[in-house]
Amino acid sequence: MENEFLQVVDALPGLVWTALPNGEVTFLSRRWCEYTGISAENILQYWQDAIHPDDLPELLRRWSDNLTSGEPREIDARLRRFDGEYRWFLIRTRPILDASGHVVKWCGLNTEIEDRRRMEALLAGETELLEMVAGARPMPVILEWLCRLVESVAAGCYCSIAVMQQEGERLELGAAPSLPREFIQSVIDGPADSDPCATAALSNQQVIVADLLADCRWERCSWRQLAVHRRIDACWSTPLVSASGKVMGVCSIHYDRRRTSAPLDHELMGQIVRIASVAVERTQRDATLRRSEAFLAETRRLSSTGGFSKCVSTGEINWSDEVYRMFEFDASKPVSLELIRSRVHPEDRASFDDMLDRQQRGIDYEHEYRLLMPDQSVKYMHVVAHATKDVSGRVEYIAAIQDVTERRRSEAALIEARSELARVARASSFGVLTASIAHEVNQPLSGIITNASTCLRMLGADPPNLDGARETARRTIRDGNRASDVIKRLRALFGKTDATIENVDLNESINEIVTLFRSELHRSRVTVQIELAGDLPYVAGDRIQLQQVILNLLLNALEAMSGIDDRPRQLLVKTEYHAADGVRVSVADTGTGFGGHEPMRVFDPFYTTKPGGMGIGLSVSKSIIDNHDGRLWAASNDSGGATFSFSIPKHPKQHKGGNGRTGRWIAGVTDSPQSK
Ligand code: ADP
Repeated sequence: MENEFLQVVDALPGLVWTALPNGEVTFLSRRWCEYTGISAENILQYWQDAIHPDDLPELLRRWSDNLTSGEPREIDARLRRFDGEYRWFLIRTRPILDASGHVVKWCGLNTEIEDRRRMEALLAGETELLEMVAGARPMPVILEWLCRLVESVAAGCYCSIAVMQQEGERLELGAAPSLPREFIQSVIDGPADSDPCATAALSNQQVIVADLLADCRWERCSWRQLAVHRRIDACWSTPLVSASGKVMGVCSIHYDRRRTSAPLDHELMGQIVRIASVAVERTQRDATLRRSEAFLAETRRLSSTGGFSKCVSTGEINWSDEVYRMFEFDASKPVSLELIRSRVHPEDRASFDDMLDRQQRGIDYEHEYRLLMPDQSVKYMHVVAHATKDVSGRVEYIAAIQDVTERRRSEAALIEARSELARVARASSFGVLTASIAHEVNQPLSGIITNASTCLRMLGADPPNLDGARETARRTIRDGNRASDVIKRLRALFGKTDATIENVDLNESINEIVTLFRSELHRSRVTVQIELAGDLPYVAGDRIQLQQVILNLLLNALEAMSGIDDRPRQLLVKTEYHAADGVRVSVADTGTGFGGHEPMRVFDPFYTTKPGGMGIGLSVSKSIIDNHDGRLWAASNDSGGATFSFSIPKHPKQHKGGNGRTGRWIAGVTDSPQSK
């Protein structure tokens, strides 16, 4: 009978025991002995040795309560298996009562709940981990916590996590709280493909080293020595893979000889790796997102840019804080179109309404309008909007809005300053030109006087010389026209006029300037050579401004040659047409040149080497040429002196134009050229 009872007991799925009402253990089943490895003779005396030392005090306390209450109970505790590994058991106690209800005996059944405990711990861990990720805890903290979670659910192992660098080329240590840092670091720093961790990352496959000493794959690898030195006996390395299949890192679980537990089962390992992958991916993604959000916020702040979205069909508008600040509206109040429109400058409301109409069409747009603020100040807003469609096909705009007030103000100030500078520069040239102008105007005036007195003389003769008088009167008119032309040209050159774009014939412009300049050249003993290309195309531009540039270059050339006495003072003014960069004008002199300095410096505003110079002529000239989509540059001549050139694209609407003249004439001391 007893035998039969023992057979039944041994067949039960668990470890059976009995005890007296005072708690003294009287029987432990054979499976109890086999499981713990304690011999049958000693088991009654030493059963407590099989309980995990951390769990024993609590177990004894609850067992004592249990005896007092006489009620059935359930207690969790870890039991040491014969091989030294502790595993969780659920200990169920039941009292056996006599007819009067007194406890005569206790019996108990211990069932292993290791797997359930692990799964519960993993589940709780997973939840907590995701909370940590969502709470933006730093990656190392999260990974360390994850390692500890693994070590707690799979007792007897050491966990390490290596993370792939953002560039995806190298692994770096994420966490290994229970392994010596130098060990795990030297494994990670070792050559690729020479340890299980790197191999798992490279191959994107799990690498299991069940028994290192018996595994010949690593015989020649340095990590084997390191591992043996650290008494590592087994290692499971599993890649952590993102949802898109990219290897993000490796989770390695190590065992040493002291920890003789069996490796984790595949299901548990799979679970751990899944949690680790999610944690690493989420953390990396969140970190990237946070970084780009921070960048965006900073960029927005620095560039005074706000963002808004608008659903066209519902009219719902969402503004970022920055936009509220720009419009100076209370951020707690919802925005409406009426509210926005009330801020739009009255003169810009019509174009604002046009923009709203355009939104209905669902196309991307860019728009600029002004705001009139309550203190009557004006702000300039620039909007760039991108249309998107949601799943139901509704158009939604995502837009960036930038406060460009400062930019617009400085642009206006720049334009004003530029035309002011141009005017100043022209005026400063005035002194140099005065003699030339006086000469130009004087010539026709004295011609007029001479002709008029000749005419009078001819009319007073007896008989009056009518033909001669007619001819001299005609010459008087011609000279008068010449003087008036000179004045007209001067007024155009020095008057403060805004840019007007027209077809400009640069050959003609050069001729005009040189005509004005002739006597000055003559006085300065400069020989001028002019080479004008025939069939030069027109350029689109402001004639007065372009003449100002040419005049500036001529004046500079003249000044550069003013002290030159050891060689001829020669000026070459040339026009050419190049298919690549359009019409090119160059002014070459035999002056001082740049004295070894970088020629392009001369375009810097206020750069001057002249005692009375302002250093603005060339910088203004450059901005004029830039405004004509052209290019102005300087170079040293091989034979001394400098050449300044500019090129301007030909007028887009014509192929050939200009005055059709090609010319080559010399002005200077020995020559007194005719006006062309
Ligand atoms: P500034 O009238 O003060 O000279 P610019 O802008 O006209 O101002 O010229 C700036 C500087 O460029 C001059 O001071 C001079 O050093 C140099 N430069 C201009 N043209 C020439 C030239 N043809 N040869 C040599 N240097 C020149």
